[in-house]
Amino acid sequence: MAWTLVSKPQTALTEWIKQYARALGFDLVGVAPAQSPPHADSFLLWLAHGYAGTMDYLERTAHLRINPAELLPDARSAVVVGLNYTPAELPETDYRIARYALGDDYHTVIREKLETLLGTIQSIEPSAHGRVCVDSAPVLERDLAMLAGLGWYGKNTCLINTRRGSYFFIGVLLLTLELEYDSPAQGGCGTCRLCLDACPTGALVEPYQLDARKCISYLTIELRDAIPQPYREPIGEWLFGCDICQEVCPFNRPRDYQPLRARPTHEPRLQPRPLPQLTEILQMSESEFAERFRGSAVKRAKWRGLVRNALIVAGNKHDPTLRPLVERFLHHEDALLREAAAWALEKLTPATEVKQHNQ
Ligand code: SF4
Repeated sequence: MAWTLVSKPQTALTEWIKQYARALGFDLVGVAPAQSPPHADSFLLWLAHGYAGTMDYLERTAHLRINPAELLPDARSAVVVGLNYTPAELPETDYRIARYALGDDYHTVIREKLETLLGTIQSIEPSAHGRVCVDSAPVLERDLAMLAGLGWYGKNTCLINTRRGSYFFIGVLLLTLELEYDSPAQGGCGTCRLCLDACPTGALVEPYQLDARKCISYLTIELRDAIPQPYREPIGEWLFGCDICQEVCPFNRPRDYQPLRARPTHEPRLQPRPLPQLTEILQMSESEFAERFRGSAVKRAKWRGLVRNALIVAGNKHDPTLRPLVERFLHHEDALLREAAAWALEKLTPATEVKQHNQ
């Protein structure tokens, strides 16, 4: 496709931007007015409930999240893009990891593409200003994505596209340009409540309400302290993040809803990286962790968090061959790891052995 660098009227410019975004590899693209998100009040109420747990940064940046103009003065339009992230095949591992974290860090992938888009727009419209937002520049991306027609809210709080499911990243490019806006997406869950019933920790406290403090994604990625006891067994084999509420969703399941289904990503940088086995993680030094997960979203958990999670997963696997590796942490200098190891060891110790020990 030839990209003509001449100033364009509004409709043509909007269409041109969308086509260019698709050529950059985005699966979904729409345009919304850069306005205060319609669910701003719900977001503030969610924070007031304490559902964000220890994610203080959400509170600190709330004013930015609900007001795009604070991020880009004179913002008029939000070009909202979606990038599929689920792989065609899940890699074989002896634990689970959220699909979004299998490839390279999406922040880098989406940011680079949106910066290319912004640079090209500015070569056509030199007066245009823009700002790329991928989590780090906090906009309520999902609200803008809904307004731009990319999807509607599911009861699992994910944005769902009727034809694509919910396995896609959202990125936003705020622009000072007036563009043509899409209509908000229509759709809904109907009477389905599969995700609410499937969540092992009960984090979906009611439809459209996620208590992050109970969510496996929060517990394994954001929480820096010990994982509360009641959630350790329900975490099962999830080492980093969780996809349960998305995996059970009919809009992500090809068999039920052909051709309404999540499609595998075409983005080379989002293809699954080679992953270490659980035993390797339990033996990994901090520097090996930094090397292994460089450029991956997994690094957000940090070495300490990932090893803590690996100990919980080890306990839940009930595999006695893991005991020697777990025992090594019983005398670790970090109390968090000592305590997680003691918990795991109890799970790995056959009841008969515990009984003999207590006699
Ligand atoms: S699993 Fe059912 S209730 Fe949950 S988000 Fe999907 S369609 Fe909605």
